[in-house]
Amino acid sequence: MAKNNDNYYWKDSNKVNDAELLQVFPEAEQIIPILIDELNQKQKSLNEIIEDQLAVIDKDADEMSRWFWRRWLAVNEIDELSVINRRIARLKRQLRIAQGLPLPKGALSDDLIAAAKEVPIKTYLDRPFKRSGSTLTGLCPFHEERTPSFHIYPDQNRGWCFGCNEGGDVIFIAMKLNSCGFKEAVLMLSGGGNE
Ligand SMILES: [Zn+2]
Repeated sequence: MAKNNDNYYWKDSNKVNDAELLQVFPEAEQIIPILIDELNQKQKSLNEIIEDQLAVIDKDADEMSRWFWRRWLAVNEIDELSVINRRIARLKRQLRIAQGLPLPKGALSDDLIAAAKEVPIKTYLDRPFKRSGSTLTGLCPFHEERTPSFHIYPDQNRGWCFGCNEGGDVIFIAMKLNSCGFKEAVLMLSGGGNE
């Protein structure tokens, strides 16, 4: 079973309980909108950089260098963008708490779902993976094994085990490992699941 992953996750996410934090930090209500604004600016300029760079890369006639520059872009700007998206989703949630507004109970916001989907599977699983070509290979989180048969496809942020034929996107993996539903998994992954 996936006990190690559960422990890893809960250790990490329980560091800060949003509601408790905001109780001792009343200025948050004024500060959070400023932080969201700054992050939105960064998000915008990163999106522009990525678009510009993709346009340049696509003009390159050499397939090998197109591939290389796309990888380079993915590990630099795109990673940074997903970190920013996650922080924005979390700040928006904290702002609702600070303003005493109820957190949306029924529907998850698109921001939150997008932020959850962008948590890299490798980071979430927190175990050794080896790169082999364009995929990462490591021990399966779903079944006991000695020879790695779990593959991560970082481009799509999907994982698949060829041993037990189980896998999917990071939300599905979190649901499976924590035996929880979609909403709970999204809240956990996006850093907002401490209710
Ligand atoms: Zn497996």
